[in-house]
Amino acid sequence: MLDITAGRVVFDGTDITKHDRAAMRPFRRRIQMIYQDPFGSLDPRMSVAALIAEPMIVHNLAANAAERAERARELLEMVGLRADMASRYIHEFSGGQRQRIGIARALAMKPDLLICDEPVSALDVSIQAQIVNLFQEIQAKFGLTYLFVAHDLAVVRHISDRIAVMYLGRIVEIADRDTLYRAPLHPYTQALMAAVPIPDPEIEATRPQITVQGEVPSALNPPPGCRFHPRCPLAVARCKTEEPQLREATSGQSVACHLV
Ligand code: SF4
Repeated sequence: MLDITAGRVVFDGTDITKHDRAAMRPFRRRIQMIYQDPFGSLDPRMSVAALIAEPMIVHNLAANAAERAERARELLEMVGLRADMASRYIHEFSGGQRQRIGIARALAMKPDLLICDEPVSALDVSIQAQIVNLFQEIQAKFGLTYLFVAHDLAVVRHISDRIAVMYLGRIVEIADRDTLYRAPLHPYTQALMAAVPIPDPEIEATRPQITVQGEVPSALNPPPGCRFHPRCPLAVARCKTEEPQLREATSGQSVACHLV
């Protein structure tokens, strides 16, 4: 959606970094996006049926209007809504229902990858679990891959197979879910994990406390060296000048820290 300023984007073995509009077209269908704010990402002047049918028209995925309408009704039922809701407009739905409609619209494209940008953080806590469960059901049914962006560690743990921890726009640690929660290596990841309360006062009282001082600096003007150094309890002189590279520390676990 934005021009690339650095790095590469490799999708399913193909480097799509320099693809023009025409070359990107088949990939656009395969990569769909779910947004944090479904109300802001769905056109309020279109009926739900039209919202779900629109990408099918763009990518020629249905033979005619009747087929698109039938598919829209099927998709609504698949995401837990009623088929007769297709004629309504987005303002008539709750936040959770709107997110279900956003998911139905993305599924209309028969994607392989869903990029989910904080898809549950704007929802009421009581609704979040329903939508996370819906994501998991759909993943199992269609064999989808998710790139799931979230800051709620309980949600991350529940839905992820592999986790990349980011700080100020840089990946500082990547590992599979169980390794990351059991043995985080980067000081920032360790502080994140230490901040999750454990509902057992005895364990809570004895586990090590890792406190991070200060505020997150601006990503527009990040600190030199390791971006985490002004707040890191373990920082040494080298951290102020030399940016640590992401490298494999244990099998399948990569970390960007001079001390690991
Ligand atoms: S490189 Fe230095 S400042 Fe950065 S996380 Fe490691 S110890 Fe802390």
